[in-house]
Amino acid sequence: MTSTAAPSISAAPGGPSLPQERRLVTEVPGPRSRELFERKSAAVAAGVGVAVPIAVVAAGGGVVVDADGNSLIDLGSGIAVTSVGNAHPGVVAAVQEQVAAFTHTCFTITAYEGYVEVAEALNRLTPGDHEKRTALFNSGAEAVENAVKIARKHTGRQAVVVFDHAYHGRTNLTMALTAKNQPYKNGFGPFAPEVYRVPMSYPFRDGLTGAEAAKRAISQIEKQVGAENTAAVLVEPIQGEGGFVVPAPGFLTALSDWTTANDVVLIADEVQTGFARTGAMFASEHEGLVPDVVTTAKGMAGGLPLSAVTGRAEIMDSAHVGGLGGTYGGNPVACAAALAAIDAFEHDGLVERAEAIGTILLDRLRTAQASDARIGDVRGRGAMVAIELVDPATGEPDPGLTGAVVRYAYEHGVIALTAGTYGNVVRFLPPLAIDDALLGEGLDVVLEGLAAA
Ligand SMILES: *Cc1c(COP(=O)(O)O)cnc(C)c1O
Repeated sequence: MTSTAAPSISAAPGGPSLPQERRLVTEVPGPRSRELFERKSAAVAAGVGVAVPIAVVAAGGGVVVDADGNSLIDLGSGIAVTSVGNAHPGVVAAVQEQVAAFTHTCFTITAYEGYVEVAEALNRLTPGDHEKRTALFNSGAEAVENAVKIARKHTGRQAVVVFDHAYHGRTNLTMALTAKNQPYKNGFGPFAPEVYRVPMSYPFRDGLTGAEAAKRAISQIEKQVGAENTAAVLVEPIQGEGGFVVPAPGFLTALSDWTTANDVVLIADEVQTGFARTGAMFASEHEGLVPDVVTTAKGMAGGLPLSAVTGRAEIMDSAHVGGLGGTYGGNPVACAAALAAIDAFEHDGLVERAEAIGTILLDRLRTAQASDARIGDVRGRGAMVAIELVDPATGEPDPGLTGAVVRYAYEHGVIALTAGTYGNVVRFLPPLAIDDALLGEGLDVVLEGLAAA
């Protein structure tokens, strides 16, 4: 494209048939990306930040292509969303068919089969073989809000217990549930009441066993909140934005034993960990955890906005008719996309693929750690793996180094994301559609960035 008159940046065909290669034809960001960012500054609220300053025109498999013709290796999946791959052919076909049939009715006005089918699939796939019900929403935050509403209605109690380093969204209630002040909460209060934060199991930083960490958390709930006031304990089975913190074995099941004994609803927030991401359909499965309620979103619908709350029938049905819903929740196009994506998760071996990606990531990163003391910890499961970067002398978090590595990566054609309360975690959550060669090359570039910093 040579025209300088055309003000717009047009989309190009994407999907898995895009050349699966890292290809840089300009510096990153290139001139057309920079042009878009000038328009963005003038048109888009400053609070909406962009981590990797490129203008995307197409994506698929393991690559993202920008308006300058650069092809970047995708190690972020738009935050664990495009697990089946961007513009997955099955998702595209299902969306095209649905969008041409009808785009919206509002499920609470007139019903359609796709919504019920997604509910049936979630009831079947989420952990536990008890009778379940599902309600659909638009975003992860909205799912979490509704899970809390349902738990409160069911128990007649108000308190919600959450953990250090937790991330549950950016709406008012979910800001209160989220731990980290910057950037999620700062100046946006007052926050919703009856939210209580207790210590998470964080083996790298607390050195506790799962049982010890659970005892510490439960003791704090009993002393400071009271089981009889507690509607729900809300936990990410592996923390996402908090830095891919994998709790010590036994932590989650000890919490579950306590919630069951005290008629508290255990909500597993699987918005980031769900749908094959961790090498199991849901991360709870690694610990044999059967949550009362599960929230899902991100990976479920191949990039279309859809979220869900799935739980024990008697808990879910405690909300009165009309008490749950929303204009767009369970939009038919998003449901069609989800059904195609779920078909891919189940029948294209994506759970196994996530596990294999995890083996590659953990092997490479542990090898790197053996000769680089700045890599304090390597952790994660399946295609959800992170390194925590520290000052080798003190063990203190090194967010400056983390930022430099991620910047080096995108300037050299690899999209990698940061995370963590201390901003010192580089996280890897590639599309499960990435091939081994591209994944290896992406890791090479990130580790080069670490060596160069
Ligand atoms: C991303 C995320 C959310 C919020 O989802 P949105 O769709 O951004 O509202 C909630 N919980 C977890 C664990 C997440 O990773």
